[in-house]
This record gives sequence, C-alpha cells and structure tokens, in this order.
Amino acid sequence: MSASGPVVVIGGGVIGAAIAQSLAARGTGVVLLERGHVGALPSASGASAALLEPLAGAEPTLAAMAQRSLDRLPGLCDSLRASTGIDPRWSRPGTLFIARRDREAAWLRDVRAPLFAAAGASPSWLNADQALECEPAISPNVIGALRIAATQSVDAPSFTRALVAGAVLHGAVVMTGTPVNGFRRIGRRVVAVQTDTDEIACGQVVLAAGAWTATLARQLGADVPSVAVAPQRGQIMALAPRGTAPRVRHVLHGAGGYAVPKLDGTIIVGATHDDVGFDDSITPDGLRFLGNLVHELIPGLAAETIQRTWCGFRPVWRGQDLPPWGSVGPLENLLVATGYGAIGLTVAAGIGEAVADQVTRR
Ligand SMILES: Cc1cc2nc3c(=O)[nH]c(=O)nc-3n(C[C@H](O)[C@H](O)[C@H](O)COP(=O)(O)OP(=O)(O)OC[C@H]3O[C@@H](n4cnc5c(N)ncnc54)[C@H](O)[C@@H]3O)c2cc1C
Repeated sequence: MSASGPVVVIGGGVIGAAIAQSLAARGTGVVLLERGHVGALPSASGASAALLEPLAGAEPTLAAMAQRSLDRLPGLCDSLRASTGIDPRWSRPGTLFIARRDREAAWLRDVRAPLFAAAGASPSWLNADQALECEPAISPNVIGALRIAATQSVDAPSFTRALVAGAVLHGAVVMTGTPVNGFRRIGRRVVAVQTDTDEIACGQVVLAAGAWTATLARQLGADVPSVAVAPQRGQIMALAPRGTAPRVRHVLHGAGGYAVPKLDGTIIVGATHDDVGFDDSITPDGLRFLGNLVHELIPGLAAETIQRTWCGFRPVWRGQDLPPWGSVGPLENLLVATGYGAIGLTVAAGIGEAVADQVTRR
C-alpha cells in the first residue's frame, strides 16, 4: 500500500477479481468495490461460457496475453481451490471444430490448423468416423473435425468468486453492494473514490467495471478521454442431458457458436451477439439462434431439457487500438482494464498479472 492509500479496483467481474488477486498476492494493499454480488448476472463474468482457447491468429499482444493466462490457469485454479475452498471447476476438455462441408474442412485444415500449430496448440485432423467416435452427439453429416487438445474451461462465476476469495486471503478488502458514483481529484491525481456512504482514499485506481466502465470514466472529469467500451448482450443456455444421452466431451465449435461441456454434466450452448445496449431480455430470436445451434452442433441432444437461459453484457471495445490494461489519459494514478469482449475469461489471469506488473514496478 502506498502512503496515499491502497489500489482501489472498481468492478468485481473476472478482470477486477484477477487484478485484485494478483496485486494482493504480491503484498499490495487492495480495496475491491463491486456494486452487486461478485460473479452475478448481468455481469459478463456471471454469464460466460468460459471456454478458454489459445487465440490462434489473433493480434500478437492479445494472443500472448491469452497464453500467459492459459499457462497460469491450472496451477492458479488448484491453489485457489485448496486455499479458498471455492472450486473454479477447471477442466481441459479440448475442442473440436466441426466441418460439414468441403470448404469448411479445407479452411480448418489449411488455414486454422497452421495457426493453432504456430500457437503451440498441436492441432490434429480427425476424419468423419474418428470425429463421430469421439463425439456421438454431433451430426452424422460431419466430414471431419479439427481437434485442439489445449482448450480449458472453468465455471466463470465460481472462478471469479475464487479469485476474490484468494485476494481476501492475502489481505484485500472487498466491499460488495457498493456502487462507485464519483471521484475526488487533486490536479492530475485521483485521491479518493466515492460511494453512497464513503470516501475511500486511494494510491491508485483501476477501472475494471466491464461494460459499465465508460460511465465511470466520464465521472473522472472532462480532461479524461472517453473509454470506448460498449455493452453487447450475449444470450446463452444450459442443457441438462439425461443419463442416457450421448456424452459430450469436447468443446464443439461451428455454425457461429459453441457447445461447452461442464464438469456437472450440463452443456452450455451460446451465444448471441446483440448490440442492444443494456437490455437484458431473452428474446424469441435469441432462443431460435440457440435452438438452431443445438441442431447444427449436437443434434443428438436436441430432445434434452433446457435447464436455464440467461444473458450478460460483454464489454466490447470500440476503440482504434487494443483494449487497454494500464494507464490511459492524463491522470497519473489511473489504470483501465476493460473491453476484452468475447475473450475476457480467456485473458483474465494474464491481465491480472500484467496490471500487477505495472502497479508494483511504480
Ligand atoms: C454470454 C457470454 C458468453 C461468454 N463466453 C466467453 C467464453 O467462452 N470465453 C471467454 O473468454 N469469454 C467469454 N465471454 C466474455 C467474458 O465473459 C467477458 O469478457 C468478461 O467476463 C468480462 O469481465 P469484466 O470483469 O471486464 O466485466 P464484468 O464481468 O461485466 O464485470 C464488471 C463488474 O463491474 C461492476 N460494476 C459496474 N459498475 C460499477 C460501479 N459503478 N461500481 C462498482 N462496481 C461496478 C459490475 O456489477 C460487474 O460485476 C462471454 C460473455 C458472455 C456475456
């Protein structure tokens, strides 16, 4: 903790949680402020499918951030489960990218496979029989599939709560039900963060409020550049197959979506990308999209029970450059970490470390 106060992290989604955990584990004083409950809807981290795949072919800095995260996850999840008693439900299901047309197969083999190989993900090609043997619930019309063994998964709300609990074990103070609604500045420094009831002195401030970060940034003053993040609704559902249904082992990709098997036996199917602001409706269009995905990806489960539908708001970056993890604008002690859209769970553990690197080197 600096002489002028702790690092105040605003937002208890997976990004704020990972930053708080990394900082606290290094002995830095942290206060995490979350306006609701950690890992609750409609935060993106409460909604996420949490399929965690190497970002083959992505912009190199982001791909490296994802890899830093993926390398860290197995050990981090183990140690969080042991130390906090909260199980992030980590698994490594791998992925099958399903091809049902020649041109899909060609694209997967000739374009995607080399990118995954370059990312160190050891792709392998399965013919139709091998793919069906691996995953009997997929369409019998499959002509092949690209398999990536490295894909991991967690339960997103549990992982987020475990990170927060891990931060607390290292001395972080966590205040839930505490919306931040203003800041006090002296010149180019933020000296306090304001809530309904309190003013919390801060040495540094990290804005990690997901899709709501733009609103917070506006409260910092007219000289702070706007944070170009916007909400994108993702509608998603969980299937609860009966014991007699074919078991899904891999994450399955195709038809513009995915199916993610979870350790509790449910299959998460998602997700829509709806640019409708903060409207948290589940819509007939969304349900049709999800139903079609089941028919396209796992027709063998089309008669199984829908356990639950829900939605959350991805923080989507609309700026020119990459979404930020660090200083922005003229304020000396302000950091921003948001805008990772559909890959936020994948990069979170890396972002936590990257932001902690910046703070602790100062
Ligand atoms: C349906 C869906 C499926 C997804 N699937 C995947 C996936 O498979 N893999 C993947 O990598 N990513 C996935 N994502 C994306 C990923 O979930 C997000 O990128 C990530 O969760 C963003 O985390 P965050 O902490 O930035 O934001 P959030 O999780 O939204 O957290 C922001 C937090 O800030 C709090 N907050 C807001 N304003 C204030 C305030 N004024 N004061 C205090 N607190 C405040 C909110 O309550 C919230 O808890 C998915 C997202 C959705 C919606």
